[in-house]
Amino acid sequence: MGGNLMENRIHNFSAGPAILPVPVLKQAQKDLVALPSLGMSVMEISHRCKAADEIFETTERNLRELLQLPENYKVLFLQGGASLQFSMVPMNVLRGEGRSADYILTGSWGEKAIKEAKKEGTTRVVWTGKESNFVRVPTNEELELSADSTYVHFTSNETIQGVQFASEPESGGAPLVCDASSDILSRPLDVSRYGLIYAGAQKNIGPAGLTLVIIREDLVAKSAENLPTMLSYRVHVENKSLYNTPPVFAIYIMMLVTRWLLEEIGGLEKMGEINRRKAGLLYEVIDASGGFYRGHADPASRSLMNVTWRLPDENLEKQFVSEATKLGLDGLKGHRSVGGIRASIYNAMPLAGVQALAEFMKDFQRKLG
Ligand SMILES: *Cc1c(COP(=O)(O)O)cnc(C)c1O
Repeated sequence: MGGNLMENRIHNFSAGPAILPVPVLKQAQKDLVALPSLGMSVMEISHRCKAADEIFETTERNLRELLQLPENYKVLFLQGGASLQFSMVPMNVLRGEGRSADYILTGSWGEKAIKEAKKEGTTRVVWTGKESNFVRVPTNEELELSADSTYVHFTSNETIQGVQFASEPESGGAPLVCDASSDILSRPLDVSRYGLIYAGAQKNIGPAGLTLVIIREDLVAKSAENLPTMLSYRVHVENKSLYNTPPVFAIYIMMLVTRWLLEEIGGLEKMGEINRRKAGLLYEVIDASGGFYRGHADPASRSLMNVTWRLPDENLEKQFVSEATKLGLDGLKGHRSVGGIRASIYNAMPLAGVQALAEFMKDFQRKLG
């Protein structure tokens, strides 16, 4: 055992589960066997003990501070991933007389979300980028919003295509519901526009097994009465996410991640600046490559979290991935449905990692372009 933790680390560009901040991993390692105040591992304690309470409360407090959450928003620590939220959202909010929901489809995850919503109630696609291969988000003028929708669902960042909203879409007065799995806490949000925000933790804010839900009180009140207990937002709100055993260790890691954002990064404004700078480095190389690298997304819809691009042919893409891997730049193969290259550069990816990738891209083009 022992050795330098940093020595063995490569640059992890995987889309998820994904890179975590090194100070978070080191803190977790340091306290893994016994939290100093406790003499037990976080993995060994009751979810109803005082120490667990403090972990949940601190995590919530950090999230509230980072996102400037108003009092009438509840924070839930759930399980089942963002994928279960595809069902839970409509089961809770869409079931009921006269309700309907508008869905904006900008990529693969949005398609999965509406597939589940259709099983629960009336849905309308108010814009889809499918015919044009999901290369952009819509303008507000293009949205054919319903006059009376219960909510408007969108995916703030489509992880597979690398297409991101630069700001919230118009919703015609209806609350926005957002799958923010791959860009939550990557920049400031205007929370007051949202009724509900959900995110699987494993992209940007923690390990797999934990799902964050932020829900406005009036949407909690809409929860259908006859839902299975574990699928009811009202039950989870009333029990402060403790109806059953929550993933205590994963919440503890999220506590460390949110503390890192507050204390080492300095908040979401700063994080957003850093993320813009990181993504800018890669898009600059793409744009300066004279067509050797072709970005998937339209420039105005480019993701700051998942940068996606193609090379002139698939053999070159394979070679790119394999040479990058040899240099310790890992996880760059694009999703099988889109192909090409995807560099996921979440909050925890240091500038140095992105710089190393940008240099490699230039070298690769010089050699094979
Ligand atoms: C990864 C991802 C999901 C799926 O998350 P799970 O936690 O695996 O269910 C859903 N939406 C987006 C935007 C994602 O990036």
